[in-house]
Formats: sequence, structure tokens, C-alpha cells
Amino acid sequence: MVKNVESRSTVKASKGQLSFGKVWPYEKAPESTDHFTIADRYGLFIDGEFVAPKSKEYFATSNPATEQPLAEIAHANDADVALAVQAAKRAAPAWRALSGEDRARYLYRIARILLERSREFACLETLDNGKPIRETRDVDVPLAAQHFFYHAGWADKLDLVYPGATALGVVGQVIPWNFPLLMAAWKIAPALATGNTVVLKPAESSPLSALRLCEVFQAAGLPRGVVNVITGDGRTGAALVQHKDLNKVAFTGSTEVGKQIQRSVAGRNVELTLELGGKAAHVVFEDAAMDQAIEGVVRGIFFNQGHVCCAGSRLLVQESVHDLFVEKLLLRMQRIRVGDPMDKNTDMGAIHSKEQLTRICELVSAGEREGATLHQADCQLPSKGYWFRPSVFTNVALSHRIAREEIFGPVLTVMTFRTPEEAVEKANNTSYGLSAGIWTDKGARILWLAERLRAGVVWNNTFNRFDPAAPFGGFQESGFGREGGRQGLRAYLKVPFALSPG
Ligand code: NAD
Repeated sequence: MVKNVESRSTVKASKGQLSFGKVWPYEKAPESTDHFTIADRYGLFIDGEFVAPKSKEYFATSNPATEQPLAEIAHANDADVALAVQAAKRAAPAWRALSGEDRARYLYRIARILLERSREFACLETLDNGKPIRETRDVDVPLAAQHFFYHAGWADKLDLVYPGATALGVVGQVIPWNFPLLMAAWKIAPALATGNTVVLKPAESSPLSALRLCEVFQAAGLPRGVVNVITGDGRTGAALVQHKDLNKVAFTGSTEVGKQIQRSVAGRNVELTLELGGKAAHVVFEDAAMDQAIEGVVRGIFFNQGHVCCAGSRLLVQESVHDLFVEKLLLRMQRIRVGDPMDKNTDMGAIHSKEQLTRICELVSAGEREGATLHQADCQLPSKGYWFRPSVFTNVALSHRIAREEIFGPVLTVMTFRTPEEAVEKANNTSYGLSAGIWTDKGARILWLAERLRAGVVWNNTFNRFDPAAPFGGFQESGFGREGGRQGLRAYLKVPFALSPG
């Protein structure tokens, strides 16, 4: 049988590329959507139930892969924000007074229900965001559930690490569109475990999974008002972070908005954590396992269409292996399957929005104008929706905009270095400081470099690995504060002075 297949195929190795002729034609493997429904219209989740907005305003959320509207979403105004904060404030004393064990029970229940409904959540996230179903199914949803499981485990052990610490009170949380469910879990799970109540505002272009999470809270019997979810754009976010009854603001999003929020909480007794943008360097040494490093670089920049704050968007490769590395990388890039995000074979889905596509195109044009060489995958793009080819720039200078600004898309810039010292200098030559990656065979070199790279997370011989037990956060314009791990709990607790800074 196998022999037969081989005889019909034209297996050849021209330029190192395998071709199988027409033996294995491409078959779509679409995920079905008949197992869940999307309502025509969603209200705000305040005090344990969905309510119509006082604003009486709604806006549409749509599928970036088809441009088809999915649902109408409530736009919360100042009055709606005030109702949500009041609900959270009313719920705070009883929630804080619960034993850690009881709070843990709720969190475990949320995690379990989320996993039971994982297929529905994965589909919803893919439709609303444009990311491939393979990623929502294997990364976003399981990792979101893990965050609830992990923090449930801490709820009754807080005294072991932060003796005498108490909840802060009401937390206002604002999140971006690139990992809508996961970011909601990152924010809500530690806040609840530590006894705080929450008002969360998801991004206006991807609110569906956070709203569906409210159904999970209801099913888990979470007391009314402990979590409130209000939808709307930047105006709603601004009204929330400026509300006088908040005790903490936790924000994930762009550096620009993060700075505005920092200004708006200045002078108030409000705790603040900011998880902002990034421009991570991937440092590849000549002794690295090259094919493994190429997979890591591909995962680092093309995962989630490059809409990742910690994306490895700057490749620094040792000069001696640059040519071979780039040749192999470009070959690998050609094999990335771009297309229908609901197809289980798809590697890269749609760009999340028209605005984001415009920004990517603008920066890529700037890269070409400034003299870098653009290489793009030669793939067919769907005619509807927002798409961008996997792209790599070579001949990049440190001064180019594409090497300095966060593109937040599937675009890699390649530069070289000769010595470890030069690698550190170039990697640190950024206003950000969120993550970095090191690829080398030598353990001592990893330790030497990790100590010198100014980045909150440094991955070694891997990239984009997330674990709720590992603190995540940045330096410089990537923000401050940590999420995840023991350190992440600290950001939601009032710690007795003697223990500070924790
Ligand atoms: P964004 O800053 O435009 O929006 C983020 C959220 O803030 C949205 O919900 C938005 O409605 C809200 N918002 C906008 N203006 C506001 C204001 N004045 N006050 C309060 N809220 C306001 O960011 P984005 O385009 O949604 O997301 C992309 C950015 O997020 C990238 O820069 C990315 O690096 C960053 N990000 C960082 C992390 C991290 O952990 N460091 C994780 C994911 C994304």
C-alpha cells in the first residue's frame, strides 16, 4: 500500500523541499458550530444577572475572518459603570469574610465547568477573535481553566506566604482583545482567590467569551456581585478606572493607554498593575539545535497571528549561522497554513480587526521604505476578512521602526550579532522589557545571558510557554506588577508593612 502511494507520488527533494505531488490533496477539517448558540444581543452582567444598559446603546462584534456580525453588545456608560462598581462593593464584605476553603470551592467549580464547556468556548473565541481553533482548543481554554484551578489551590494557603494580608476590596480590570478568555481568567482568578470583588471590562472587539464566562459564574453559584462584566470601548474603560470606589486597577493593553491610566489613578489611593506591550528578542547562538530553534522562532512570532505581547518579534541570530538559519526559516514559513480559523488544520488565522491590519501594513511599508528586505509566505489568502501573510524582514537596522515599535502582527525582523555581549546589548536596546528567548546548547551561557537580559520572562530553548505558577510581567514600557505565581497574588493583597514589598 505504502509502496503504491510512493510510486504514484513525485517525492523529490529540490532545494531541500519535499513535494508529494497530488497524492495528498488538502482536505478541510472544519470544527462544527451546531453545539452552541450566540444570542442576537448581550446585556451587561451586573449583580449576578444580565441587564440592559442604562445607556440603551449597543454595538456589533463581528468575525474577523468573514466580516460577518456575530452579536450586538451593550455599551456601558458612566451610570452602568457606577451600578457595576456598587454591586462589587456590596458583595465585597461577604466575599472577603468567606474562608479561603470556601472561596476555593467556587474557583474549582468555575474551572471544572469551563473545561466541561471547553469546545463551546474554543469555537466562540475563534469566531469572535479570528485565532485558529487549534490554538483556542489547545491553549486559550485549557490555560484559562488552569488559572482558576491554580488560584483555587492558593485561596486557603494565603496565610502561609503573606501572613496577615487582606483583600484590597473592589478591583477594576480592563483587558485587550488578543487573548480574551485567557486574560479574563488571568485577572479574575487571582482577584477572587485573594478575596476581592471584580468589575471587568473586556475589549470591545472580542467580548463574547468573557460574557459567556458569566454563565459559568452563574452555574457555579458564585454570589451575586462578586464578578461583574461590563462591555464598551475605551470610554467605558476610562469611566471604570476613574471610579472613586475602586481599590485597585489591573490593566492589560497598549503602553499608550497604560500611561493614560497611570495618570488617571495618580494621587488616589488605588493600587495599580500594568501589563503592556513588548518587543521581545530571540537570541540564537551558532551552537543551538537549529531546527528546534526555527520551530521556536516560528511559534514565537506566528502564534496567534503575532498578536502576542511577548511575541519574539526580533530575531538576533549569530552571524556565522545567519544565512543557513534564514534560508531554513523562510522554507518553514512557506509551510504555515493560513486560512479559515475554524479549520482544525489552520496554523494562522485572521488578523483581529481592520484597524490592526492597517497598523501592520503601515509598519511593514515603513520597513520597506527604510531599506529592509521583506520576505512573505506565498500563500492564498481568503477574499473576505482581514489577512496578512507570514512575513520576515532581513537587512534590518536597530534604528528601523520595525525593529523598535510593536507591530503586533505576524512580522519578524532579523538582525545579527557576533559575541554574547553584543547580543545582550542589542536585545536590551528597546524601550520595552517583557520577554526574551535564548537558544544555545550551553547551560552556562543561558544563565549568563538570562541574568543580563532586561525582560520579565526569559525562555530558554523554548518560547511562548505559559504556566499559571510562573509570574509574568514586564520592565520599562512593558509595565509593572506580576500576574501568576505567588508574586501575582501579592498584587491583590494588602500586606502588613513588615512584609512589604513581598
Ligand atoms: P488597548 O490599550 O487599545 O486596549 C486595551 C483595553 O483598554 C480595551 O479593553 C480598551 O477598550 C481599553 N481602553 C482603551 N482606552 C482606554 C482608556 N483611556 N482607559 C481605560 N481603558 C481603555 O490595547 P489592545 O489594542 O486591545 O491590545 C493590544 C495591546 O495589549 C498590545 O500593546 C499588547 O502588547 C498588549 N498586551 C499586553 C499583555 C501583557 O501581559 N503585557 C498581554 C496582552 C496584550
